Amino acid sequence: MNLLPTFRSIERALAIGGLIAGLIAAPIGAASLALDATNPQRGAAADYLFNDSHFHLTNYVQKGTDIHKYVEQIMGDKIGRSTLFGIPLQQTWAYGNSGDFAPTYYLQSDAPLYYYSFTDAYIARAYQALPKEQQARLDPMITGFNPVDMYGVDHIRRVLELFPGIFSSIGEFTIHKEFVSSKVAGETASLTNPALDRILDFAGEVGLAVIIHSDIDMPFAKAGAEPVYLTQMKDLLRRHPKTTIIWAHIGLGRVVHPVQGQATEEAAERSPAYQQIVEQLVDDPTLAHVYYDISWDEVAKYAIASPEVEKRVADMLNSHPNRFLFGTDNVAPLDQATQLRVYHLWDPVWAQLTPEASLNVRKGNYERIFDAARARVRAWEKANVKPL
Ligand SMILES: [Zn+2]
Repeated sequence: MNLLPTFRSIERALAIGGLIAGLIAAPIGAASLALDATNPQRGAAADYLFNDSHFHLTNYVQKGTDIHKYVEQIMGDKIGRSTLFGIPLQQTWAYGNSGDFAPTYYLQSDAPLYYYSFTDAYIARAYQALPKEQQARLDPMITGFNPVDMYGVDHIRRVLELFPGIFSSIGEFTIHKEFVSSKVAGETASLTNPALDRILDFAGEVGLAVIIHSDIDMPFAKAGAEPVYLTQMKDLLRRHPKTTIIWAHIGLGRVVHPVQGQATEEAAERSPAYQQIVEQLVDDPTLAHVYYDISWDEVAKYAIASPEVEKRVADMLNSHPNRFLFGTDNVAPLDQATQLRVYHLWDPVWAQLTPEASLNVRKGNYERIFDAARARVRAWEKANVKPL
């Protein structure tokens, strides 16, 4: 289903409205407005289905899709712009564990994951191999830092110094993730670790947008209990009001599912349903700097579980059109069909969106957030990075 032809004239009409809405909704400066107005991608992008706010070029063993193939054949004329990152966690191939079987995914081995910082150099070099007009479609992100290390923030600064003019954001990095966090070598990541605060402070100072993956709850949580990490997450986000933060998958996972509401009113107050939790998050003025990505096919499955759920999800996106971003969360895809599959899982929801919400979730919010980040990070680099 292609809703786009209908949207072309609306897109033009919304360009100005979108900028105004952006000014209200996003903690960004005037720089992004100037950039938005002159963005050469904006006109051309009108025909694209979406911008991909969550995309991994490489997998858990640092292998992936050829960058030229990604831009030319997979993005092609369907995906306008895309974030670009690897995965900082490398799966160890421990002979003692899986023998001759070479695991490529974290569920395929009991051996630990470890931080593989070289991923950022790899992403930078892949980006540099592209012609300028293709680079303009990508937003590379730094991921190879350890969020439990007080020195983690230094890695981010070092990448900006070594590869100026390339990165404008950080993430996706992981704090709580089902089946993953407990496998990471060393100290377990935590939302209360000051090392993480240092990273988010620095991101705010530089203007780096942030994609953080942190499950809202533990896997197989008991129904009716408040999601175990919700309060810590809100506290963390509130400690960094000047940082533009995207909460990946709105805290959901493969088995970390939307929590159910309660039978009695009193119990429901103690433990609201997931939808109410999300509503409280997007309506909370102290969390106005936070956005939510609806990436990952594992998340789409919740949104399209039934016609009633589809309608509720569409209502949420329609009433908060500036706060959600679509992304695939695909890892090292082989072809365009794979890349578009996640998008089309959402077709029943897309069909129920207002033109404004559809446009913003698929494209506009991405452009606003990452254009602002690009402008701010380039300005920071100009003022702070000295040639080696
Ligand atoms: Zn991801």
